[in-house]
Amino acid sequence: QATASDQPRRRRLGIMGGTFDPIHHGHLVAASEVAAEFELDEVVFVPTGQPWQKETGEVTGAEHRYLLTVIATASNPRFTVSRVDIDRGGKTYTIDTLRDFSHLYPDEELFFITGADAMAQIMSWKNVEELWGLAHFVSVTRPGYPSEDFGRKNQISLMEIPAMAISSTDLRERAAGDKPVWYLVPDGVVQYINKHRLYQPESSTRPLVD
Ligand code: ATP
Ligand code: MG
Repeated sequence: QATASDQPRRRRLGIMGGTFDPIHHGHLVAASEVAAEFELDEVVFVPTGQPWQKETGEVTGAEHRYLLTVIATASNPRFTVSRVDIDRGGKTYTIDTLRDFSHLYPDEELFFITGADAMAQIMSWKNVEELWGLAHFVSVTRPGYPSEDFGRKNQISLMEIPAMAISSTDLRERAAGDKPVWYLVPDGVVQYINKHRLYQPESSTRPLVD
């Protein structure tokens, strides 16, 4: 019988926004789990722009965060990285990211992937209603944050994923304190952090060749 499924299936694109300072296995597992559950064709990782003012402490330069994200995602054929938020500049707002993607990919179904903490922040935004027409939201569980029911079942899916108690904040503190970051981030990310001495206190930065 003729059904709606006779029409070609729309491509499904996941969008994983983040500061990625640095990217870690919590981000990668979230993207991979949502991609499998929602049958996504691609997940685009979108590092945030550089805030004009450093509001909540230092954020590592956009090019370092972009390259870390490329290194971490390079081996997965369905993972890509976008510069839209970096190239727009300034603080990133989810509405701007989604507007850019809906113009770039007008025929694709967009899925915005967040952890429970980021979803709660998005819900507190005053113009939150503007978001629902642009993408379906998937809020994944994250250790240390409550698994809130945000309501709006047609717009927001809640998904339990393997618990990874990893944060970029903790990784920056580890790197600064000469504690290991191995196995919390992909090997290439460990090597890039060491090569560029990211997150090291200024006094301990040494040239690449001693
Ligand atoms: P920071 O400590 O600097 O805030 P972060 O670890 O929270 O870093 P972000 O770049 O802020 O990482 O997060 C990007 C997205 O990934 C957010 O939606 C966040 O909720 C989600 N996320 C981050 N870490 C995890 C994790 N361990 N499990 C599930 N989701 C995560
Ligand atoms: Mg965060």
